[in-house]
Amino acid sequence: MSQSRRDAIDNDIRIEKYKRKYLKELRGGCFKIRHSENILKCPFCPDSRDYCYDDLLRHANRIGRQSKGATFIERAKHMGLVEYLEKDFDTKVKLKSFDSPSESLLDTTQKQNANEDVYIWPWMAVVANIHVEYKNGMYVGDSGSKLKEDWTGKGYKPEKVHTMWNYKGHSGLSVVVFGSTWDGLCRVLMFMKDFEVKKHGREDWFSREINGNDDKLYAWIATDKDYNYIGLVGKYLKKNGDLKTVAGFQKEEQVKNSKLFMGLKAMIDEKDKRSDEINAEINKTDMELKMKQKKQMSLIWVHDQYHRPFLSHEES
Ligand SMILES: [Zn+2]
Repeated sequence: MSQSRRDAIDNDIRIEKYKRKYLKELRGGCFKIRHSENILKCPFCPDSRDYCYDDLLRHANRIGRQSKGATFIERAKHMGLVEYLEKDFDTKVKLKSFDSPSESLLDTTQKQNANEDVYIWPWMAVVANIHVEYKNGMYVGDSGSKLKEDWTGKGYKPEKVHTMWNYKGHSGLSVVVFGSTWDGLCRVLMFMKDFEVKKHGREDWFSREINGNDDKLYAWIATDKDYNYIGLVGKYLKKNGDLKTVAGFQKEEQVKNSKLFMGLKAMIDEKDKRSDEINAEINKTDMELKMKQKKQMSLIWVHDQYHRPFLSHEES
């Protein structure tokens, strides 16, 4: 390995160490990011301008990743901020402005009463705390196919597992897709229960000790809360799912089934009609054949009558 490559790796390891330090401080609430309901500021830039979430994330990414003018420490701070914004921000700050859109985003016919849970359809689960390691400047961890295999082995049969990546690699988060049928809903609920009984569900994840040493997975069924949260998971769910209540889904299935039933009925009616037409056709041909036979018989009879005297004369 060349000296410059070795230096780059050393540099990466050092910056990663500092990044973790700042991330820990951000998680511990040492820095103020939210200045009003909708105004965020970069805690590491003096005289930061006002940002919305996406802009602040872009700013942190830009300085953390490539800014030539930034010092080593400035880059480490902003890299910590990226990770905090993507993975923890919503856990530490109650985002009123992001809680309310769930009401307006949701089709009112879907939400039948306020207590009804709203899930993501196709049914999905969110998994957090997937073990990642820092190697050669990137975070690496279990792939989606490896995780899918593990959970298939346990009987949950997920259709797909999408691990969430950012520019630093594996984020330790994934979304597990269980399909769009009743069977899929059943499997995602079983999957969720398995984590809930081990006290590793959604609430446990968001109330965990941030710097604890728990290396076990956390998982929960994806709901409107995840959909409306910012960050990697929210972005994925918005792009790939719809909000649905179980009652809403049931209604849709009934409509679909009745459409299917009507379609089948129409098909049977059409078959009956065709069969009547064929029968009529057969009867007509039958009749024509009989008429033909009758005509032939009468011709034979006429022929016989015509020749009979002649024959009798010969016989005598
Ligand atoms: Zn900044």
